[in-house]
Amino acid sequence: MITKTAMIAIIGRPNVGKSTLTNLLTGDKVAIVTPKPQTTRNRIYGVFAHGATQMILLDTPGFHKARTRLGEYMVGVVKESVADVDAAALVVEPIAGIGTQEENLIEHISRSGVPAILIINKIDKIRVDQTLSIIDVYSKRYSFDAIIPVSAKTGDGVQQLPELLEKYAKEGPQLFPDGMTTDQPEILIAAEIIREKLLICVDREIPHGTAVEITKFSERVPEGSDEADAGENGAIEGPDYDAIIDVDATIYCEKASHKGIIIGKNGSMLKRIGSLAREDIERFMGAKVFLRTWVKVREDWRNSRASMKTFGYIK
Ligand code: GDP
Ligand code: MG
Repeated sequence: MITKTAMIAIIGRPNVGKSTLTNLLTGDKVAIVTPKPQTTRNRIYGVFAHGATQMILLDTPGFHKARTRLGEYMVGVVKESVADVDAAALVVEPIAGIGTQEENLIEHISRSGVPAILIINKIDKIRVDQTLSIIDVYSKRYSFDAIIPVSAKTGDGVQQLPELLEKYAKEGPQLFPDGMTTDQPEILIAAEIIREKLLICVDREIPHGTAVEITKFSERVPEGSDEADAGENGAIEGPDYDAIIDVDATIYCEKASHKGIIIGKNGSMLKRIGSLAREDIERFMGAKVFLRTWVKVREDWRNSRASMKTFGYIK
């Protein structure tokens, strides 16, 4: 029975591992993860239970310098997130020096007065003595409630986080139903998974200028899946899934040349993106997925209010 909630903002520069950590703690793929910065665009809630406490993590877009309207939106989301949480967890790279972005975020934390912990991530990349000097640098800069070295990749150190974050819990109504791991509608997760595969498969600047719109997302019962067709000896054959979801997705990019690259030779790139995305969407939905994809050009959509609205970045 849930009696308390703790709302924690996960903040930090792009690519430090905020989404990886959120996914690990919630045990579900609620946020997409790629080796490229600025992957997460929206604020995403990752939810998990710790004893009688509902822990709500806000995975935020990386805090960076805004250069486009989309960038401005992303920075705004971070500022808003810190304003109304029980605590903030600043995630940093394992570097014994404080960058401008970390400075700005520490400034922001101290001004808002929100309790904060520091998570030094990616310690799998460094030695123990290096960890100590990072702790030293940050503890001199700000009085964090705690400084926790972790690896979101190996899971090292992560197990102590729920216990620690629970201290910030407040009594109050349960905000998410039991078992729910995110506030993201399934349709948005499908779009984000496709965008993740684009970021992974296609090189250079192209993916940052892409958006994905889901135009169809409907479930149907596969033919021959009901009891009558369970087979004479009762054995059900074929896939374990008993539902099929049809997903139509349009990938928008900014230039005709980008469209060519995304589609690839004889459609090979789009096929690869589609099949990787389909596998992940199937896993998330627990259903068989038929995914159809299209690529369209929409110039400069990152600076267009109308397009930002279509893709869900402005209400
Ligand atoms: P975000 O932008 O802060 O959300 O960062 P992501 O979670 O998308 O991760 C960015 C990249 O760092 C991905 O390639 C991750 O696989 C990688 N990464 C995340 N955590 C770790 C870690 O603990 N160790 C290592 N070596 N890589 C990590
Ligand atoms: Mg992210």
